[in-house]
Amino acid sequence: MKYIGAHVSASGGVENAPLNANAIGATAFALFTKNQRQWVAPPLTERSVALFKERCEQFGYLPKQILPHDSYLINLGSPDDEGLKKSREAFLDEMKRCEQLGLDRLNFHPGSHLNKISEEACLQRIAESINMALDKTQGVTAVIENTAGQGSNLGNKFEQIRYIIDRVEDKTRVGVCIDTCHTYSAGYDIATPEAFNETFMQFDNIIGFNYLRGIHLNDTKKPLASRVDRHESIGLGLLAGDLFSLLMRDERFDELPIILETPDDTKWAEEIAYLKSLAE
Ligand SMILES: [Zn+2]
Ligand SMILES: [Zn+2]
Repeated sequence: MKYIGAHVSASGGVENAPLNANAIGATAFALFTKNQRQWVAPPLTERSVALFKERCEQFGYLPKQILPHDSYLINLGSPDDEGLKKSREAFLDEMKRCEQLGLDRLNFHPGSHLNKISEEACLQRIAESINMALDKTQGVTAVIENTAGQGSNLGNKFEQIRYIIDRVEDKTRVGVCIDTCHTYSAGYDIATPEAFNETFMQFDNIIGFNYLRGIHLNDTKKPLASRVDRHESIGLGLLAGDLFSLLMRDERFDELPIILETPDDTKWAEEIAYLKSLAE
């Protein structure tokens, strides 16, 4: 079964996310559990949590269909001790929010070295940050997203993600989210059937499909290996050819949240319907 949705708004409260997802015909969704532009947010209210759970049940959203995303401010590999401390506290708070909501995974961008420490030192910090958060929570998997490698962001190479996973103590609670736009921008071709097979064979060899916990399904405005992160609506970018039907028909992407982060939210219902038709 393919679960397909979008990163919907949770404005007014997390309990609005399942409503917004259901309104566009989504069978999966992503959300921020707090304002993603602020470091500190008020705790979730009991009412919000209860309504969120009630609505997920009402519309048939199980934890495996939901992929919460953490705040963009967080840098778990921050070279700066103060920034690292702040990031680790904020990440732990987000993991706890997921726990409260009964969710089983939290998606995040690994981190950036900001040209102040080596790649390796940054990756080690990220792994240590994950270990610290897993120690203090239960039942929530830390889901590392691959990146386009823009600026000093790490996670553009499968080997870097593997390096982090190797240093996480509880391997049952670390996972990976593959973003199709980022994958292509990072230099992994997925635009043709041959390239798609080759890239996902590499993914399986280096990381392993057993770690896959979600997909961000985006088309892209930027060429292969550009290392620039610019999402495009499905079918309007450079991945318009084969990628979407290949992925929708591939069983390795079953039972996971497949999330659109495409720029035009007025097209989401149509994009979801189109993707569902490809999966049939
Ligand atoms: Zn993404
Ligand atoms: Zn992106």
